Amino acid sequence: MNTFKNDRATRPHDAAPDAASSVSGSRGLLQAEGLLFEIGSLDKTGVDLPAPAGSKDRLGGVARSAPPALPGLSEPEAIRHYVRLSQRNYAIDLGLFPLGSCTMKHNPRLNERMARLPGFADVHPLQPQSTVQGALELMTELADWLMKLTNMPAVALSPKAGAHGELCGMLAIRAALYAKGEGETRRRVLVPKSAHGTNPATAAQCGFIVDEIEAAADGRVDLEDLKAKLSRSDDVAGVMLTNPNTCGLFERDIRIIADLIHDAGGYFYCDGANFNAIVGRVRPGDLGVDAMHINLHKTFSTPHGGGGPGSGPTVLSDALAPFAPVPFVISTAEGLRLVEHVGEDEARQSFGRLCAFHGQMGMYVRALTYMLSHGADGLKQVAEDAVLNANYLQARLSAVMSPAFPGYCMHEALFSDAFLKDTGIETLDIAKGLIDEGYHPMTMYFPLVVHGAMLIEPTETESKAELDRFADALASVANRARAKDQTLKTAPHHAPARRLDETRAARNPVLRWTPSAEALKAAE
Ligand SMILES: *Cc1c(COP(=O)(O)O)cnc(C)c1O
Repeated sequence: MNTFKNDRATRPHDAAPDAASSVSGSRGLLQAEGLLFEIGSLDKTGVDLPAPAGSKDRLGGVARSAPPALPGLSEPEAIRHYVRLSQRNYAIDLGLFPLGSCTMKHNPRLNERMARLPGFADVHPLQPQSTVQGALELMTELADWLMKLTNMPAVALSPKAGAHGELCGMLAIRAALYAKGEGETRRRVLVPKSAHGTNPATAAQCGFIVDEIEAAADGRVDLEDLKAKLSRSDDVAGVMLTNPNTCGLFERDIRIIADLIHDAGGYFYCDGANFNAIVGRVRPGDLGVDAMHINLHKTFSTPHGGGGPGSGPTVLSDALAPFAPVPFVISTAEGLRLVEHVGEDEARQSFGRLCAFHGQMGMYVRALTYMLSHGADGLKQVAEDAVLNANYLQARLSAVMSPAFPGYCMHEALFSDAFLKDTGIETLDIAKGLIDEGYHPMTMYFPLVVHGAMLIEPTETESKAELDRFADALASVANRARAKDQTLKTAPHHAPARRLDETRAARNPVLRWTPSAEALKAAE
């Protein structure tokens, strides 16, 4: 057993400390922080510049008569403002980030070192290609690794996230259907009910009609329902399937599904967001996949979100490769060349361009660094450890929470809210309780096929000690819920902000600071 003891598990809970209990609003060492406009003052500035020598008025008399109402702060005030805000963020460098489906793994510092090498960091996308041969070579090598790991013959590097990669794959499928004269007739795309929301959204954006496939009782695709939907008519363009799926389970019938969809004249789009569970062990090309995006910010450890940007290269089968988007790198006698325009390479029927320039160069460097530092055997171990860690958490938490499906999971552990029955506590309260324990909540209420779902993905980068520490914390919250501890209904108690009206914030976001009457007057 681990040595980390969480005394909240044994101690009766104190009444929540009140924000008014300290003048600064401090909880721990965190002070309350206002907006720049609230803490700065109009008559202050952090710099001392000489007044401009009278310059010629080129504004035709419309120059401001008074300075704009911008807040002035001294340098330390400005620095503290941003550092305080940054301390309110949970981050992968602060602790385990249990978000399922998101794969929040450690971002190795070596990746950052490599991405900052001037030869990569300082290249400009409009430089002559002869001066960026090294960057093109790196792209070629990354593409090579991605094709080898997936056993697929082509890859489009430019998509800028998973959802963008889906768009790339589905546009390639659409282009292939039009090339066969079936673009107008094959309009239906089959998507399992457990799918990530981006799948149906992408299909719809490409003009397809989304048809949901039922989930079987074991959390996998219902084969009978799939067969029935395929046999109904000849209008199926393809299927979008995630493997391992969003319930954290391997779709064992994937080869049968691929054959069924191909026999019906459709294409197989595989959502590769969960590739980290099988990298080095399973090659999607061997499973009959026609297109699959790979989230470099999930499987290959490049940063997420604010630390991003994401990157979603999309591998393509022989059938779809001719339709890949521009630009792509080709090898010529004079060196590597970026093919920038549709029609430039006559052998291809590119569907067009997905973004300006070539994609996320900095992420290519980081992902390739991760691949090279692990090697082929290391990447295989990544998948094995990710699956082992998830199963360890599932096993440790099974006694106090309710696993959604029997048996082993892949890289993420999925629980339903069955254990909360008759407690008055809900999934949301468990997530908020976890914040008081110092953890970002797990993914909740997704996938939709599991009631009150809690989806937990530890990734391979957590040690056993960290997993135990997290399991202790979550188990203590689950035990409080079982004991009907109603203080969970108002958690978090120790976070700078308590329960927020998230629905109102999403529907009515206040994105504009409204100056006070005093500030307005000063600006006149
Ligand atoms: C993360 C994810 C996506 C979308 O990827 P982004 O990079 O966030 O656009 C799609 N499908 C699944 C299953 C995912 O987990």
